[in-house]
Amino acid sequence: MNFTTALLDWYRRQARKLPWRETKDPYAIWVSEVMLQQTQVDTVIPYYQRFMERFPSLQALAEADEAEVLKYWEGLGYYRRARLLLQGVREVQAKYGGNIPSKPQLLKALPGVGDYMAGSIASIAFNLPVAAVDGNVSRVISRILAIEDDPSRAPVRRRITAWVQERFPQREAGDYTQALMELGALVCTPKRPRCSDCPVLPFCKASGNDPEQYPVKRKKAEVPEERRIVLMITWNGRRLLVQRPNTGLMAGFWEYPHIEAAAGDDAQRLAEEWAERNLGERLNFRFLRKMTHVYSHLRWNLEIYQAVREETGDCPATIGRWFSPEEEARLSRVAFVRKLSRQNP
Ligand code: SF4
Repeated sequence: MNFTTALLDWYRRQARKLPWRETKDPYAIWVSEVMLQQTQVDTVIPYYQRFMERFPSLQALAEADEAEVLKYWEGLGYYRRARLLLQGVREVQAKYGGNIPSKPQLLKALPGVGDYMAGSIASIAFNLPVAAVDGNVSRVISRILAIEDDPSRAPVRRRITAWVQERFPQREAGDYTQALMELGALVCTPKRPRCSDCPVLPFCKASGNDPEQYPVKRKKAEVPEERRIVLMITWNGRRLLVQRPNTGLMAGFWEYPHIEAAAGDDAQRLAEEWAERNLGERLNFRFLRKMTHVYSHLRWNLEIYQAVREETGDCPATIGRWFSPEEEARLSRVAFVRKLSRQNP
């Protein structure tokens, strides 16, 4: 029996009956996933039921008053989640006539929807083989593979995602996604994982070897160095920039897209895959130069790659926006981007 079969057999026998598991409605799955961010399942259940009674469809929520939506969220906390959900459903209503798209790139372009949520909606609601890696899943896979590195680092996250991705069953993509999450919630728990009851014990490298040591946390005292591949992509005399999140380092500033890479990663391939994922096509990147950028607590070793998009047709970047040099100069940009744009106008 392989890993996926063992996991699915267990899930069919042991899965908890949860209200959002009784539907394949992408809207309902979306609501449940937003509520489950940072909140325990038992707390979410009554909120989810009340919310779905009052806003049973995407259209009902899209037309609702924000104050009333927040009222139904009261007690769940993290109200930003509710506001983003409301913005998201309104965008789906306006852009897609109320039909939630199934493509992960389009899902990720919606407010509040990141890699994880796009993966859960695509796999659970649309049965597509798209990995959804949350904290539970990354803990489980860190243990199965005994990964000696911190899964919050992008290369490790990529490795975990690829591993999950490769094991999708032919059908039952949604069950596979939920089974991994359920295993993390019920068996492979942060403390005292129940290895003797675990359906994937034969595949696990950490069992019997202090599984609690995984996932490994990066030591706080280290000043991390990160290898980053920076992409300068031009199209029709305009360049692609993405905006940093509203919180954290250089919040709200604009920059060229960049990807964290591990020491042995093939930068050219990562760049091509990024373009395919986010622009929907493969571009030819050429290496421009290396540079470093130092923050007080972090050093970025940057490798700059350039590509020109030759197509004249529309290019709806699902991430970022295209700017002319004049528009770009008016943006608040991070320092290395200002420097690069001066040297490569
Ligand atoms: S065998 Fe133990 S450590 Fe490994 S996945 Fe199962 S519960 Fe987690």
